[in-house]
Amino acid sequence: MASRVKSVIKRGRATVETALEHGRATVETAIVHGRATVETAIHHGRATVETAIVHGRATVETALEHGRATMKAAILHGREDIRIESVPVPKAEAGELIVQVGAALTCGTDLKVFRRGYHARMIVPPALFGHELAGTVVEAGAGVADFAPGDRVVALNSAPCGHCYYCERGQENLCDDLLFNNGAYAEFIRIPARIVAKNTLKVPEHVALEHAALTEPLACAVHGFEDSHPRPGDTVAIIGGGPLGLMILHVAALAGYEVIALVKHDGQVEAARQLGAAHVVQTGSIRKAVHDTRALTPNNRGVDIAIEAVGIPEAWQEAVELVRKGGTVNFFGGCATGTHVMLDTNRIHYSDITLRATFHHTPAICRKALDLIAGGRFQAGAFITGHAHLYELNRVFEKLMNRSSEIKTAIVP
Ligand SMILES: [Zn+2]
Ligand SMILES: [Zn+2]
Repeated sequence: MASRVKSVIKRGRATVETALEHGRATVETAIVHGRATVETAIHHGRATVETAIVHGRATVETALEHGRATMKAAILHGREDIRIESVPVPKAEAGELIVQVGAALTCGTDLKVFRRGYHARMIVPPALFGHELAGTVVEAGAGVADFAPGDRVVALNSAPCGHCYYCERGQENLCDDLLFNNGAYAEFIRIPARIVAKNTLKVPEHVALEHAALTEPLACAVHGFEDSHPRPGDTVAIIGGGPLGLMILHVAALAGYEVIALVKHDGQVEAARQLGAAHVVQTGSIRKAVHDTRALTPNNRGVDIAIEAVGIPEAWQEAVELVRKGGTVNFFGGCATGTHVMLDTNRIHYSDITLRATFHHTPAICRKALDLIAGGRFQAGAFITGHAHLYELNRVFEKLMNRSSEIKTAIVP
């Protein structure tokens, strides 16, 4: 009996030991296999990720190299009707450039076009829209020697023909065949050969593209100011606190002239001061503005130069009332077609008043404007009061129509 019990115990122990041994072996095998599986998984995973990265990179590179087929662009369809659409990315023909837009700036002219739905000289819908831009060259057409992909450029909105009566007399702003270009509110823009040859400038490295995009409006401002033929010591009154009024003011102040700014809205008062106005006259009443401005000059004689930068007939008339005998008035702001002004002939004649009306810019003045921006004293940043994506363009213009305190919004595609 005892020997049977012993033998059972012995067999039982043997079974347990065998079981333990097998169990241990199974666990070890499992661990080894598990580890191998995990390692394989990691290895495969890593390989898959690496392959994906390589393929992804190749695809991106191919896409970059081949260029994208379509881009987003703002198309003006009519009055207050801008649509962001997918359109073919332009290709550069001989002499042309394709520029990837870095920043496009809103402008009073664009606002007018948005409100009216067209511009007789510059844009007939449906059309690409926007004209103040700077960006990076992505393609240069055959025969382009001065620019290559990667160059940062500002391309002006127009270029004169160079051989008409006006061009030959140095009045290229009045060229009979001024070529306009639109399409800045887009990812890419085609720059026509004539603008590439005459009115595309390289942007110095230290100048931000959105600041360089101010070249076009600033060229108009510099032209308007120089065309008023200021003389040292002159006092200059500028009517209007919009982007162009503020720019002329800043140009005059930087050149050392005493500037009186006539503005309407609260936000414009601070901007005028910051940009160098010695005096700011804020009023909605023309008669009061004339009185207050004259009161700032010796014996109420009036200012030496008055520049109108609003573009309404009432302000043109006001400008004539601001100047002294022998003074100069510049009707800088373009009024709506068909409008007229009544002027006091006696005052014009017996006070020997010079009347000018500067329009647009010339290639030489565009270069001066970019030099001014690059020079460092010009407060480019003060003119860009907002940033928005291309998709927000409608909202931006609606806001500008409601006379917000925005000066310019940089549209970044
Ligand atoms: Zn403009
Ligand atoms: Zn011409």
